[in-house]
Amino acid sequence: METRHIALLGSTGSIGRNSLEVISLHHDRFQLISLAAGENINLVTEQIKRFDPPMVSVKHKKDADHLKKLFPRKTILFGNQGLEELVSDKRVDTVIASINGTSALTATMIAIENNHRICLANKETLVAAGELINQALESTEAEIIPIDSEQSAIFQSIGSNKKEYIKRIILTASGGPFFGKRKDEFSQITVKQALAHPTWLMGTKITLDSATLMNKALEIIEAYHLFKLRSDQIETVIHPQSIVHSLVEFIDSSFIAQLSWPDMKIPILYSLTYPERNHFPNRNLDLGELKKLEFYPVDIEKFSSIKMAYLVLEKGKNAGAVFNAANEVAADFFLKGKITFDEIFEVVENIMGGENFFPIRTIEDLNQTIEETKQKTIKYIQRRLSK
Ligand code: MG
Repeated sequence: METRHIALLGSTGSIGRNSLEVISLHHDRFQLISLAAGENINLVTEQIKRFDPPMVSVKHKKDADHLKKLFPRKTILFGNQGLEELVSDKRVDTVIASINGTSALTATMIAIENNHRICLANKETLVAAGELINQALESTEAEIIPIDSEQSAIFQSIGSNKKEYIKRIILTASGGPFFGKRKDEFSQITVKQALAHPTWLMGTKITLDSATLMNKALEIIEAYHLFKLRSDQIETVIHPQSIVHSLVEFIDSSFIAQLSWPDMKIPILYSLTYPERNHFPNRNLDLGELKKLEFYPVDIEKFSSIKMAYLVLEKGKNAGAVFNAANEVAADFFLKGKITFDEIFEVVENIMGGENFFPIRTIEDLNQTIEETKQKTIKYIQRRLSK
């Protein structure tokens, strides 16, 4: 296997920290060229000491100046420009994209232009600008290998099968903590309850998105762009144990699935080694001891997030970006205790319903969509609150 020369974007988040563990497991295979982080300077300082990348980029200039004093022999950059320089550095061939926001899209587009492998953890990029990215991919040697556990499972299950052999894909959802709750109980759900995920330990926003199934809705849209299927070929099922990470049914009615104890390091490792595999010591999965794996249908009347995902696919254009931005604002207001859990759905539904959609042809189109949607959503929530 050839050595991968890696730019890790988003090193202090959950995926970033797991990626560094994976890189250190196989340091003969993986060489860390650079890492980019936001504002967690204590952690990034530790990471620089431990993993010794020659290049680093952080969000703010003042933090970059501080790091330059600590590490005078390293290239320390900042802001979007810093991010862009990391991705276009000649030594890099692989980018792990686990940062949020539109800077992730800029970085992804540059990685595509540079024919890199992009190990994609940030689903918002594809949700908001899937068509733009797919278009860019067509004219280059670049490739996107998903890190998201469900997309990785589908990617692995498809394997070398042709697209026309796929009947449908089934994304599994843990269901979050509330899949057994009645809809009329949703308004009583507290922030603390919403942040207690049964199987995965993740960041705050994605944990809330798992409880609302907004995360699964985003994954439906992400899968649509990644695997270029029709929307009626993409389904979801609740699977509380999070052992079966997703499934593919083929035209001969065979199913292939990928299973493991949940650990993000597995899909991260695969995204780096594909089409090869490398050792990863996970807890032993003893099916006899486990005894059962459960599956339940998704109640889309209760979790209208799933219904909205298909509306996004039907509308196309910038609908994914609108959906994602409206959810971000609604989630933020819920986490601050300003709106109830069930209002998250109502807010996003309302913003989606009132929207005239336009195509995203440039990063500016995307920025405009995000900015306008966020303003509109904030205004809508404030109007509701003042009543
Ligand atoms: Mg996932």
